Amino acid sequence: MFSKKTPLEEKRLHSLMELAGELAFRLSLQGEIIQASKRAASMLAPGTPLAGMSLFELVRLSDRHAIEAAFMQAVQTRQITRVSVRLSTRAGAVWFELEMVAVDEPDAEVLVAGRDVSAQHATEERLRHMATHDELTGLPNRSLLTDRLRMAIAQARRSDSGFTVVELDLDGFKKVNDALGHGVGDSLLRIAADRLRVLLRDVDTLARVGGDEFVVVLPGVIEEAEINAIARRMISSMQLPFEIDGNTLYVSTSIGAAVYPVHGDTDVKLLAHADTALYRAKETGKARCVIYNQIVFNRLEHDVSMEAAMFEAVRNGEFLLHYQPIVDARTRQIMGFEALMRWMRPDMGMVPPNQFIPMAEDNGLINLLGAWALKVACVQVKRFQEAAGRTLYVSVNVSPRQFRSDQFIDMVDDALKLSGLDGSQLLLEITEGILMSDPEHAEQLLTKITSRGVRIAIDDFGTGYSSLVYLKRFPIAALKIDRTFIKDLPESVKDAAICNVVLSLASHLGLSTVAEGVENEFQLKFLAMQGCSLIQGFHTGHPMVPNAVIDVLQSEAALQN
Ligand code: C2E
Ligand code: MG
Ligand code: MG
Repeated sequence: MFSKKTPLEEKRLHSLMELAGELAFRLSLQGEIIQASKRAASMLAPGTPLAGMSLFELVRLSDRHAIEAAFMQAVQTRQITRVSVRLSTRAGAVWFELEMVAVDEPDAEVLVAGRDVSAQHATEERLRHMATHDELTGLPNRSLLTDRLRMAIAQARRSDSGFTVVELDLDGFKKVNDALGHGVGDSLLRIAADRLRVLLRDVDTLARVGGDEFVVVLPGVIEEAEINAIARRMISSMQLPFEIDGNTLYVSTSIGAAVYPVHGDTDVKLLAHADTALYRAKETGKARCVIYNQIVFNRLEHDVSMEAAMFEAVRNGEFLLHYQPIVDARTRQIMGFEALMRWMRPDMGMVPPNQFIPMAEDNGLINLLGAWALKVACVQVKRFQEAAGRTLYVSVNVSPRQFRSDQFIDMVDDALKLSGLDGSQLLLEITEGILMSDPEHAEQLLTKITSRGVRIAIDDFGTGYSSLVYLKRFPIAALKIDRTFIKDLPESVKDAAICNVVLSLASHLGLSTVAEGVENEFQLKFLAMQGCSLIQGFHTGHPMVPNAVIDVLQSEAALQN
């Protein structure tokens, strides 16, 4: 090739190329190799001359588009352009970062220097894998599952077909974990994952979404008979004994299924409905499969239009939280707030929680709403603390279904992490029923929750099972005396007696007490005299929007200064 460079320039350029990075090339404006450094030659094509070949040919097919685009850009802009591509080397495909610059003088050509970035890529790849997979089983996690579900929806829409989402939960897993320890529990989960994997096709996605919960996406499967057949295979395979560390263990699995598009057309709906079906399977005998529509048809009271509106509302951000002050019974200073959920329906106005929480509990949306409430409440109380210039706590209601979910503890951790709130400034309100329906699970979960410094209150105390055993067994910090015992105070002798007993019991057990629904000064005085520590009710403050709370706190702070 004719060159305008002098021999001296050529020599210098040559030395420079040998010094520059791991690879160096001079390319024509068409991408043809004019000259390659010695290292490039030995790495990429030992024995065959590189000159005359196109650099693009040395790049893996899937990266060709990237290098061609970068090359064009280098030629057009005359600026240094970077691109990461895989080059085919003797040792296989290796990631290189190539820097390219086009020069005009004395000859028009493109200079390329490359460095091996495979270690960096491997780290990135590992991080990506960790973020999208469950460490224990290597299966996709909830975040990757969500991606796959959305892809499945897009694909089904394009091809006018459907698919099934199956959720499984191992019955008896918690007992194994408690009795034999986490090591055995982990092995069991790994074996369970392997057994499920072999039952599935390549196109199916199996994900672990928490504790002993798995979700499977089955593209193309929509017939009830087929779903039941697959579920039966899964149930049988889980019923085989698990041999772990010399133990022979037996568990079973319950399955819930929801079909796209008939039972839901979004990932959220499908997961919520599969989850509802799963709980139905557990309630009705375990080791069986329930498909969502079987539930809908069995439940006449099911308000389908309200449910549809609720899913819409989540997407449109129609839910919000109000905050009701909880004050010290003697000083009347605000100590914290209870976060109370509201649904602002554009067509109907404010819907109170007792009209939608039970339904959300039924259709599985409560997990989503509850996680949202927890996060928002924690973030919001941080703002309240800033306005007040002092510590305040927030009390958040937890529904039975949230409490049963294996993902609940992660939601608590997420909310604390996101808000930066100290665990001790969060209180979770649960009901007596939650503790009694599955005491083993409750004990485990409460231990985890309290290890974060988060406190537990029993809401509506006195209206549920009222078994005193749990006050001893579980790490409870506070009792909230239900409004029904407060409303006729101080006249009602019976209510006065009940409050008296509860307050003295709490004081002996070292528990704090909150009286709910305090509506007048007589009630407040009576309760304060009986030793009730905290008061919540219209008398000391209605539930308010956050800005109103901030006004109250700021005027309180101004008064004190
Ligand atoms: P709760 O946890 O017992 O909440 C206290 C309820 O008493 C609230 O009703 C509050 O507005 C009301 N209240 C407070 N002071 C007075 C008073 O002086 N007089 C009267 N008559 N009522 C008073 P709300 O906001 O309608 O909530 C009802 C229930 O809905 C709550 O009862 C709670 O069980 C549930 N809930 C509210 N928000 C959530 C939430 O974020 N998650 C869950 N799972 N449940 C929630
Ligand atoms: Mg409450
Ligand atoms: Mg209550």
